[in-house]
Amino acid sequence: MEALSVSFSPAVCGPKVNKKVFGAVEAGGTKFRCALGDDAGKILSEVRVPTRAPTETIGACLDFFDSQSSFGEVEAFGIASFGPVDLDKRSNSWGRLMATPKRGWEGTDLVSPFIQRYSKPVSIETDVNAAALAEARLGAGRGCISVAYVTVGTGIGGGAVVSGSPLKGVPHPEMGHLRVLRDPRDSFEGICPFHRDCLEGLASGPAIAKRWGNSLDGLNPDHPAFSIVGNYLGQLVATIVLILSSDRIILGGGVMTEAALLSHIRHHARVLLSGYPTDSIESRISLPGLADNSGLIGAVLLASSAEFR
Ligand code: ZN
Repeated sequence: MEALSVSFSPAVCGPKVNKKVFGAVEAGGTKFRCALGDDAGKILSEVRVPTRAPTETIGACLDFFDSQSSFGEVEAFGIASFGPVDLDKRSNSWGRLMATPKRGWEGTDLVSPFIQRYSKPVSIETDVNAAALAEARLGAGRGCISVAYVTVGTGIGGGAVVSGSPLKGVPHPEMGHLRVLRDPRDSFEGICPFHRDCLEGLASGPAIAKRWGNSLDGLNPDHPAFSIVGNYLGQLVATIVLILSSDRIILGGGVMTEAALLSHIRHHARVLLSGYPTDSIESRISLPGLADNSGLIGAVLLASSAEFR
């Protein structure tokens, strides 16, 4: 078996700490991030594992936690996962990935390997719900009642924390597949394998690259791509405000690293809502306060309140 290339952070052999220590996993389609964190959400050590076959990838995660005994015994684990994933604790397939297009991962049990190895409680959520939780407690959503987190990258996903609790459903919200009104300048057919020209099919990173032959940061800032993608994402933001009354909508992910896009999203959301139910829509929209660590820190926070099933 080919060896995994893993990179340990410099703090990997840190001293034993007196605080409680939690294990966190952010499970993504291209990499898994594993970390130890404390009950304040601080990351103590971290490793990144490339996403390969499930057994190999999860095995590398377990190896990391085995190697971290100098920090003390891990109290519980939190997993922030790509979806779709079964989050219903009453279900026989709780903690398993569902119909994911990620080849070889459908049906993968993400929680049992940790329970079996460590006999500790495990909490699992979507990556975006976990990110919303971290941003609500420690980041750009502090002090807000309804915090939504949207990632715009390889796909588009959204989660929310309302009055401190992650938004629940069966299986979970899929905001990225919202049907959006066509921008009249846009005739692109869309790339979503399920809905073709839903939001993800029109505004995700791969949709942008296929339509314009480049990512946004490779296009001139006055290219119409910014306004068209801003229109579609502005429609999602307006919809979130109408359904969840969110007083903070945080936009993360690779596509959002192009700074010019944010002002287009704010503009389109404001025009769409026309002052109702709020005239402060633009100030509700922000970038993450925790950079690209929202999901991982969210997994630490999930672990800190994990209970046995
Ligand atoms: Zn779709």
